[in-house]
Amino acid sequence: MTTIATLLRAGPTRSLEFFPPRTDDAERRFRFALGELSVLEPSFASVTYGALGSTQERTREIVLHMNEEQTFPTMAHLTCVGHTRAEVDELLNQYAKAGVRNILALGGDPPADGSHPDGDFTHAIELVEVVRAHPADFCVGVAAHPELHPRSPDRASDRRHLAAKLRLADFAITQFFFRVSDYERLVDELAALGCDRPVLPGVMPFVSADGLRRMAAMNRTTIPEGIATQLDAIGGDPKAVEALGVEVAARLCRDLMAAGAPGLHLYTLNRASPVRRVWDQLADWG
Ligand code: FAD
Repeated sequence: MTTIATLLRAGPTRSLEFFPPRTDDAERRFRFALGELSVLEPSFASVTYGALGSTQERTREIVLHMNEEQTFPTMAHLTCVGHTRAEVDELLNQYAKAGVRNILALGGDPPADGSHPDGDFTHAIELVEVVRAHPADFCVGVAAHPELHPRSPDRASDRRHLAAKLRLADFAITQFFFRVSDYERLVDELAALGCDRPVLPGVMPFVSADGLRRMAAMNRTTIPEGIATQLDAIGGDPKAVEALGVEVAARLCRDLMAAGAPGLHLYTLNRASPVRRVWDQLADWG
């Protein structure tokens, strides 16, 4: 199975992110979305991992299945907070045995009640080191936050910790954002710290006004005033919100490509239609 580092060396990538469904209905939607979107032949896909291991089994099953069934590689997300080193090693062994080559090494969020879970890890960089040390020679990605990680006390420390983590990894994928200038600033600040690894922008074609507001608040993503005003006007009309989400995402993708991004990573939210509509527009731009 190809590594994402190899794909990135060959040219710009286009990738899709899915999450493991938790109900029968959600499972049907996921299967449908995967069927519709896999024919687009993305460079690679990725599957998220529930905080503190809550979807460990499902993530593993889906990643293994997709790597078996699809022509493109699927990367497994893995968070370390709340896990022991032995648990992580066991999961990495299972992935290695199944031929999975790509891991997104994440910190993960501590419990919402503010408690500190047991485990051997505090920050994602410790997981990057463990994945790197594994004999399987995994390709390793990490998370980056153009508008700073919500727990970062200041810009300088955010960028310093990110650069240290990314130097040990192969590439980064960003949290979703709307302003190209935030992405460009992130890349420039990393370069100033001597880190020039590829940073794939994460783009989310939003499908719900409330969902977008909730996720943006959680991640401290700025919703630009123009988009916020349009959402206020059409928020109750799901079709109009989806159309706006597609328009905004397509424009952002085009501007990011023009800015020299090494690829585009689309957050699918397990929905086929908006992603297909964005993808179709990307095809028009070559
Ligand atoms: P870290 O790199 O550990 O950073 C977290 C905070 O700690 C930052 O403020 C950082 O500056 C600080 N920090 C880092 N190192 C140090 C240090 N040595 N000393 C002091 N401070 C330090 N979450 C999930 O649960 N499952 C997923 O599948 C998932 N997928 C994601 C995919 C992408 C592309 C992105 C961008 C995020 C994803 N997340 C996921 C969310 C992510 O787990 C959370 O943002 C989490 O809070 C931090 O993860 P991180 O990997 O950025 O952590």
